[in-house]
Amino acid sequence: MDEQLNLAPCGYLVLSENWNIEEMNRTMQEMLGLEDMPANIRDVLTVPSKVYFQTYFVPVIHIHGQVDELYLTLKGTNGPLPVLMSARKRKGLFECALMQMSIREEYENELLVAKRNAEQIQQETDKAYSTLLGLMNEVQQKQQELVDLNHRLQRMATTDSLTGLKNRRVFQEQLAEQIQAAATEHEDFTVLLFDIDHFKTVNDTYGHNVGDEVLKELAEKITGKTPSRYTIARIGGEEFAIILKLANRQTAFDFAEKIRKDVETSSWRSKPITISIGTATYQAGDTGESLYIRADSALYTSKRSGRNRVTSV
Ligand code: GH3
Ligand code: MG
Ligand code: MG
Repeated sequence: MDEQLNLAPCGYLVLSENWNIEEMNRTMQEMLGLEDMPANIRDVLTVPSKVYFQTYFVPVIHIHGQVDELYLTLKGTNGPLPVLMSARKRKGLFECALMQMSIREEYENELLVAKRNAEQIQQETDKAYSTLLGLMNEVQQKQQELVDLNHRLQRMATTDSLTGLKNRRVFQEQLAEQIQAAATEHEDFTVLLFDIDHFKTVNDTYGHNVGDEVLKELAEKITGKTPSRYTIARIGGEEFAIILKLANRQTAFDFAEKIRKDVETSSWRSKPITISIGTATYQAGDTGESLYIRADSALYTSKRSGRNRVTSV
């Protein structure tokens, strides 16, 4: 073998018909890291490469007389050695040139690792995303619970639990609002107070539970007869108030008379009762308190003059 071929920048092999290595250049020997020349090409092939050599290289070189760019892995002394081999048949022998492929192998390995990392990151991202979705659902649920709770608290803070009517606080707030509106916009409005007649006797005769039923039933009856723009509130034990928006003294009296009569004449599931009513219509200069005091004294007048009646001032 001449010097140039011996030290060429690629491996060079000559194989016989039965794949014995007839010649091997120095570069090839250095690539393999071997001192002695192996006897047969199969001795330096890894198992998969041996299979590939036998099933692909051998038939192709016999049919076409040449094989280009066959990717093989050799068993080097420093571990597997990937090579690209091209071979030609000449004068009954096979000349093979082998280029080392370690850089490509490393590159492919790096690509493989990068792909695996990317897949792992994708999996982690998917997992984090689904956790995030779960948390967002949870937050949404909690927010809804909070909204519901606030509604309940709002209801509890404004509602009388026995009758479901508005409580004294709402009455006072709305009275103040109406005073303000009446003072600035000169709108009529009337405060109506009513109180059950001889309610103590109902309690004493039939018991407190029946008394409670009477209060609930009275609230139902009055609600059924009252336009929704009027606010009905339970402001004491058996004392109620209605804020009659846009109602003058006469309208208020007519409305009061209607509910008084309905309470007196309708049939009762619990026990029949009557109510006394006092109404006071806003006058310039009235405060919430002065208006309430006038309505209360009108109610007192109704009580004093025999109960089950309406007094309007
Ligand atoms: P009047 O015709 O003068 O209004 O007589 P009255 O007996 O209704 O008046 P009074 O103020 O003397 O009595 C009111 C009664 O209402 C006393 C109290 O036991 C009762 N009462 C107050 N709150 C409740 C309640 O929530 N449930 C029941 N069952 N009774 C109540
Ligand atoms: Mg009473
Ligand atoms: Mg009373």
